[in-house]
Amino acid sequence: MRRIAIFGGTFDPIHNAHLAVAREAADRCALDRVLMIPNGNPPHKQGVERVDWMHRYSMVELACAAGDARLEPSNLEQGRARSYSIHTIERVKAAHPGDRIFFLIGADAFAEIRTWYRWEDVLAAVEFIVVSRPGHTYDTPPGARILLLETMSLDISSSDIRAELRENRMPAGALPKSVRDYIAATGLYGHGKEFGC
Ligand code: ATP
Ligand code: MG
Repeated sequence: MRRIAIFGGTFDPIHNAHLAVAREAADRCALDRVLMIPNGNPPHKQGVERVDWMHRYSMVELACAAGDARLEPSNLEQGRARSYSIHTIERVKAAHPGDRIFFLIGADAFAEIRTWYRWEDVLAAVEFIVVSRPGHTYDTPPGARILLLETMSLDISSSDIRAELRENRMPAGALPKSVRDYIAATGLYGHGKEFGC
């Protein structure tokens, strides 16, 4: 029996806190694999502009290649269709019979769990590893099986990174080098565009 975690996110772009969280969870919860799954078209981010799945997935691949063999990019949510966590969980379980499946998530995202499609089924299907995040609290729904990773306090977010990039700054400490290079080469997030154009 292996111990496998699902780590979903917009990953727009993937950053050093995502990687630190995945590594720390793997260490502390003895995970064999952390599946890094960029969302296709997540229902919670409708109307918010984000870069194409293929770019986000490519950056996840680059970030994982540079780091830890336990981190594995997954294309399970590829495409334009809405992706729901319960469907991803069911697919991962079907692909890994007999393995123990965890769901790795930050405190901000876990705080919204009751808004998720079939959230009771999600709670019944997986054990959560909930990671602390500066400025975010949550309460625990009854029946949830939760492991807490409360040692993390990383003040990094993709939103802040996108804002920096739009202003033509490269947030060096927040992004792996391979991802910085990818953004510089592609001009994603408006990076490299001259102001006023
Ligand atoms: P955005 O600002 O666009 O929402 P983000 O930095 O929150 O981006 P997401 O792709 O939304 O990144 O998050 C994917 C998962 O990683 C979520 O479960 C989120 O809670 C978690 N996460 C992201 N950043 C951190 C952080 N700094 N500390 C702990 N967990 C984090
Ligand atoms: Mg987020």
